[in-house]
Amino acid sequence: MLTVGEARDAVLRAARVLPPEEVPCAEAPGRILQEEIRAPHDFPAWDKAMMDGYAVVAADLAAVPRRLRVIQEVPAGTDPGLLKRVEPGGAARIMTGGPVPPGADAVLIVEETAPVEGTPDQILAIAAVRAGDNIARRGDDQRAGDTLLAAGDFIGPGEIGVLASVGRTRVRVGGRPRVAVLATGDELVEPEQTPAPGGIRNSNGPLVMALLRQAGCAARYLGIAPDKEDALADLIRSGLEADALILSGGVSMGVYDLVGKTLRSLGTDLHFDRVAIKPGRPFTFGTRGGTLVFGCPGNPVSTYVIFHVFIRPALRKMAGFAAPVRSPRRGTLKGAVRQRPGRTGYCQARAAWTGAGYEVDVLPTTGSADFVSCARGNALAILPATVDRLDAGTVVDFLPLEDFDDR
Ligand code: AMP
Ligand code: MG
Repeated sequence: MLTVGEARDAVLRAARVLPPEEVPCAEAPGRILQEEIRAPHDFPAWDKAMMDGYAVVAADLAAVPRRLRVIQEVPAGTDPGLLKRVEPGGAARIMTGGPVPPGADAVLIVEETAPVEGTPDQILAIAAVRAGDNIARRGDDQRAGDTLLAAGDFIGPGEIGVLASVGRTRVRVGGRPRVAVLATGDELVEPEQTPAPGGIRNSNGPLVMALLRQAGCAARYLGIAPDKEDALADLIRSGLEADALILSGGVSMGVYDLVGKTLRSLGTDLHFDRVAIKPGRPFTFGTRGGTLVFGCPGNPVSTYVIFHVFIRPALRKMAGFAAPVRSPRRGTLKGAVRQRPGRTGYCQARAAWTGAGYEVDVLPTTGSADFVSCARGNALAILPATVDRLDAGTVVDFLPLEDFDDR
């Protein structure tokens, strides 16, 4: 049986990076940049006032107070070609972002001036300035040709601001994985239906669809396949057209667990069909061509854990993330936990910041069918396969869930 690390390596080896595509910048957040963005010109493109005030000749203010004659008003947006020269004894009323006129070498902030009663074209400077004060020189922020963003950068709101600043409306980003989702099981009905006696509602379908949307994938729901090979094969065949197919159920040892067999009959190369993980041991992984096939055990907590530990990293690699596996964080256990050794445990937990570090509270659970537990935690605590007991205060790794800080 593969360890979690071995299984994840196998999955990541099989995952291919999708070809980049060009998208409108509004759709780019959450994606990975696949081109270099350079400054098309200097930023700022002209010497710029950083405060509201007066563009002055600093040497004029060696002794203050000093009266200055206001020769021009320079709001932000003024064409630098229309500026008048500021001669000694003169000043231009200037607003933040406005181009500094020739002759001026500092901006005296408006708070350090006073009006001159009865002479609106004059002001009184009441503080000194040094040359360069409150002025950003042309190219101070970025020089023409500087690299602003690099291929491989994650695109968040800050990057969107950079793209807008250089006039980009479209950008080249990593591909968006197209992922098909298929629930299997004769006992399942869709949530809006009332199950017959012995039946249950399909919760994995909606759960996986939500996980995929959160991961920024294009998710396609294929419905519920019965535990019959022909019908199952038809639905799997359509799922194999996607970049990845996620199945739930039908991968255990039961008589009606037909997923592995059906996948093989459709030409899927099964790389493994069990992993030393709890929950989720029967996790099955294969490929057909470039399509990744994930067979998750049907119990909801197993599907949830398998997604976070194996599927999400693979999807991130496909989308172009340089580090597809997120680093775990560390915290100390709030209470003692026990487990049967042999498999790495992933437990629903609540990790809280104490000021000195994280405290990890492993939540009580009845096991892998405990569907409500997935709604309770903000993290998965990782219990090493070798131990049977971890005392309170033991340092453990945990995987923060996507919405860690909001839960
Ligand atoms: P299986 O992996 O098919 O043996 O299913 C294991 C357990 O998970 C059974 O109790 C199933 O009824 C349950 N299960 C399977 N698929 C789903 C699903 N889509 N939603 C909720 N429970 C499921
Ligand atoms: Mg089943």
